Amino acid sequence: MVKKSYCLGIESTADDFSVGISTFDGKILANVISAYIPEKGGIHPREAARHHAEVADKVLEEAIKKAKIKLKEISAIAFSQGPGLGPCLRTGATVARALAAYLGVPLVGVNHCVAHIEIGKLKTGAIDPLTLYVSGGNTIVSAFDSGRYRVFGETLDIAVGNCLDVFAREAGLSQKRGLPFGAIVEKLAAKGKKLIPLPYTVKGMDISLSGLLTAAVNLLKQGTYKLEDLCYSLQETAFSMITEVTERALAHTEKKEVLLTGGVAANKRLQSMIKYIAKEHGAKFCVVPSEFAVDNGAMIAWTGVLAYQHGIVTPIEESFVKLRWRLEEAAVPWVK
Ligand code: AMP
Ligand code: MG
Repeated sequence: MVKKSYCLGIESTADDFSVGISTFDGKILANVISAYIPEKGGIHPREAARHHAEVADKVLEEAIKKAKIKLKEISAIAFSQGPGLGPCLRTGATVARALAAYLGVPLVGVNHCVAHIEIGKLKTGAIDPLTLYVSGGNTIVSAFDSGRYRVFGETLDIAVGNCLDVFAREAGLSQKRGLPFGAIVEKLAAKGKKLIPLPYTVKGMDISLSGLLTAAVNLLKQGTYKLEDLCYSLQETAFSMITEVTERALAHTEKKEVLLTGGVAANKRLQSMIKYIAKEHGAKFCVVPSEFAVDNGAMIAWTGVLAYQHGIVTPIEESFVKLRWRLEEAAVPWVK
């Protein structure tokens, strides 16, 4: 008899195509990520989707090889059903449907934001954290309350990762050795000394970053300030706004853990700011290791396990992608 106790997860919401494999008790056996790096400009959804289609078989093969399992040992296929970019999501969903049908196993649609929280809990041991999820596409402060992951604060326009990426591109920086733009801005910011006043926009529990970005880009074009100082000021202003709303959510929810996740979680300056407020409120600071903080298939596989074990399966006819699937709309019966 074939032992079946693995879930394979497919992530394809934006620029990354990734396949992860998790056991049913949360051992991550593989997490292969292929990032799409545009030659020029931002992410074009159709171009990124083409990348995903091109690399899907190789990424899948590598993940199976790394996990040292056989395809027929997989008992569920999980995929990122949303939120995200339509063409990218559809490519991942198509691969997932084909695999599930071929293997004769259930399909499990996973909410991408929920997955970021669940992998964070798995990897850091956090049980009931206030989560700050900061990435290329999302900036969300969330915590579990009354059956759902509630959104306490978020960006009203662009995500913080996107803000840093656009600024870096406007500054003519290039992604050498595949280093993310956010990391390049972080390096330059570390050399900055002068804090240039920039728009600071906090509206209730939400923030807005587009005014800040426009102002920083305008100053960049004027050429009066050093790039290092602009990077430093952009980072300080954006991260202070995020930290302010995170702290308020922490004071309100009185959670005892703060979890930092998403691609921007790799930033040491942001880590130090969040760590500081966590300490002030007597909460434990947890940060997800970068391999699991960026968009990855392992988080989809693990959340797929949790959902599947709680009876969630997604029939093919309901497996359409949900571009704007909000965090609080996703059922999480495994969280108590
Ligand atoms: P994700 O959307 O989760 O895949 O994360 C990608 C985002 O994280 C991009 O916007 C990157 O520029 C950003 N990022 C990666 N490393 C860093 C860093 N060290 N500091 C700030 N942002 C970063
Ligand atoms: Mg990404």
